Amino acid sequence: MRQEDRNNSTSQLPAYLGIPTFMRCPESREFKGVDAAIMGLPFDSGATSYRTGARLGPRAIREASLLLWGYNRSFGIAPLDVLEVVDYGDVVVEPVSLQETEKLIYSEAGSVLSAGVKLISLGGDHSVTLPLLRAHREVFGPVGIVHFDAHVDTENDRVDHGTIFRHAAEEGLIDRKAWVQVGARGPVSYAEEVEDARELGARVFGMDECEDIGTSEVTRLIHETLGSQLVYVSLDIDVVDPAYAPGTGTPEVGGMTSREILKMVRGLRGLNMVGFDVVEVSPSYDHAGITSILAANLVFEFLSLLALGSPG
Ligand code: MN
Ligand code: MN
Repeated sequence: MRQEDRNNSTSQLPAYLGIPTFMRCPESREFKGVDAAIMGLPFDSGATSYRTGARLGPRAIREASLLLWGYNRSFGIAPLDVLEVVDYGDVVVEPVSLQETEKLIYSEAGSVLSAGVKLISLGGDHSVTLPLLRAHREVFGPVGIVHFDAHVDTENDRVDHGTIFRHAAEEGLIDRKAWVQVGARGPVSYAEEVEDARELGARVFGMDECEDIGTSEVTRLIHETLGSQLVYVSLDIDVVDPAYAPGTGTPEVGGMTSREILKMVRGLRGLNMVGFDVVEVSPSYDHAGITSILAANLVFEFLSLLALGSPG
């Protein structure tokens, strides 16, 4: 959307005024001429391992997004000048049923994607990514994955926020040769947890390895692994250290700084990306909004990557 058409644009109205859709994009479910939609998934009943609260994530991220002034100086682009973006609003999830919520997310994500609109989803806990990947598979076939997370999320057979990538792999939603996991660390529930993820197909760059070889080299290896495959990017905010992102359900110490994750996300430029999510933002545990401000900025980087890849 051109700045002159955006009467309510973030750059024209003080951040404290008005009703917060994401970056003041119009709230709409009409997809004619639309390039991308922001969708909220306020569901946290899949967060069985520790504290809930990510249902409040989408609202906090939208509010923090009003601080995004519009121009990305790292890329030299104003994504909303290039892309038509709408805020879809939230999927009306069923808080007592993971299975019902999965169906709702799958169906509504599918309606967006089948209109040729790219989807950027705001969690919610990480369980929301499984139906999102099912919807993407319908349109794009099995996709490559870049998964930023302190956890490999292949932990066991139960369906919850810590097992989605095991199910995604087993359901054939993922191109297993184009699957990268970045940021795993901390104590695990059993010795072979990371080895099991690798056996399923994930190329895992744990936090120790990121530190040893450097995030630039990890970025190079991500591109080497993904090549020209269609890529879905799933970012669990707990990949970032709790010092920089305390507002999350299962924090693990020793993670990335906010600057490192921004750099890594920008480093995805050139990949053939078809979908994004940011999950596990849990505002009740946040301080001064630092986690939701970071999440909003990461969504802004996703939008910028989409804009850079768009013919417009
Ligand atoms: Mn995690
Ligand atoms: Mn996760």
